[in-house]
Amino acid sequence: LFSELPRYQIDSVFALIADYIADTHPEKVSLGPGVYRDDQGAPWPLNVVEKVEKQLFEKNDAGRHEYLTIAGDGTFLELARDLCFGFGEGTPEEEKLKLKIASVQTISGTGANHMGALFLSKYLKPARVWISDPTWMNHHTIWELQGVERRTYPYYHAEKRAFDFEGMMATLEEQAEKNDVILLHACAHNPTGLDPTKEQWKAIADLCERKGLFPFFDSAYQGFASGNLTEDSWSVQYFLRNKPNMEMCLAQSFSKNFGLYGQRVGAFHLVSNEPSSELRESIKVNLCHLIRGEYSMAPRGGSTIVKTVLLDEQLKKEWQNDLTIMSDRIKVMRKALYDELQRLGTPGTWEHLVTQIGMFSYTGLTAAQCHALRGKHHVYMLDSGRASITGLTSENVVYVARAFDDVVRN
Ligand code: PMP
Repeated sequence: LFSELPRYQIDSVFALIADYIADTHPEKVSLGPGVYRDDQGAPWPLNVVEKVEKQLFEKNDAGRHEYLTIAGDGTFLELARDLCFGFGEGTPEEEKLKLKIASVQTISGTGANHMGALFLSKYLKPARVWISDPTWMNHHTIWELQGVERRTYPYYHAEKRAFDFEGMMATLEEQAEKNDVILLHACAHNPTGLDPTKEQWKAIADLCERKGLFPFFDSAYQGFASGNLTEDSWSVQYFLRNKPNMEMCLAQSFSKNFGLYGQRVGAFHLVSNEPSSELRESIKVNLCHLIRGEYSMAPRGGSTIVKTVLLDEQLKKEWQNDLTIMSDRIKVMRKALYDELQRLGTPGTWEHLVTQIGMFSYTGLTAAQCHALRGKHHVYMLDSGRASITGLTSENVVYVARAFDDVVRN
């Protein structure tokens, strides 16, 4: 019955991880998966998360394993929404904006992207979705599964090793049509680590408005990219406040910024163009209808941790401190790799290693060079040349730089 099944190659990062695990070389280095590692190369539960976990354990709340509602934990959802849309002052303008946003809890960022794609494919019925080239591979899978035509817009200018703003704008200007969905990375673009400037974001917002495109923000790195929560959601907040008639949505993940990868904490927010509690409720009910048929409700454990932190000013400060620890370590490693390549006089320009932001660097190494890195030096990164900077440590960075130097020269 099933002998004719297609042979899918699930995201190549998983094959890379398996090869890395199987490698017995003592100096092997993993620059593959997008997970934070400390300077010893170990997983790092955030200090604030460990503290809250202890508190919750001691509380011994008998309801801690109960079901959530279909929409999810209401307090968590409000806090999550306030975080990405930058609410906090409680002004009448803010309250009005909140009326436009329907939020539901999801199975992390992936689930939020999926619920968004599912909802939009049913109710917006876009002729196509525009995805950056390159992007997080799962964007393609998620939209392919909804049967929506996928088109790509240029994002990376290989020669300049820069964001291809002109290419993106020209393609969308010429080819995108009303109601098309346009997927945008809110910050720390995966895999390139290159984001539009504020002026470029403004132009992108104008283009979406003028052409009637539907912006779909994917926010997986708020606070993780620059260490600053407001800065990392500038694009989202700009769109919301400056394009009052534009409808849009946002997929929010707490995997990276809380280090809660396996807990699957996320939210999907749909912004309508009417500040109406009735419309908001109707959107929410429709999202809940889809959720009920898919996974009934999101898990409780991780979202309780996030909620506890965001509810408490002191814990929130401690969280910010943890975010700074992570984002600073990544910046230090970027610089260390850059300095070492300079010292070695490695051919080519390497400034992009320090100017790109977030977890990833698009190194510019070719697929052949990445193969050589693996085969000769036991340094594992994707063939696209994407390196997860968090795999670098004070101990292995010189080794990695020498390996880069070798594959570039030979
Ligand atoms: N979007 C992007 C761009 C990502 O890089 C990731 C994580 N790799 C996600 C969404 C979602 O990850 P998760 O499902 O773990 O929240």
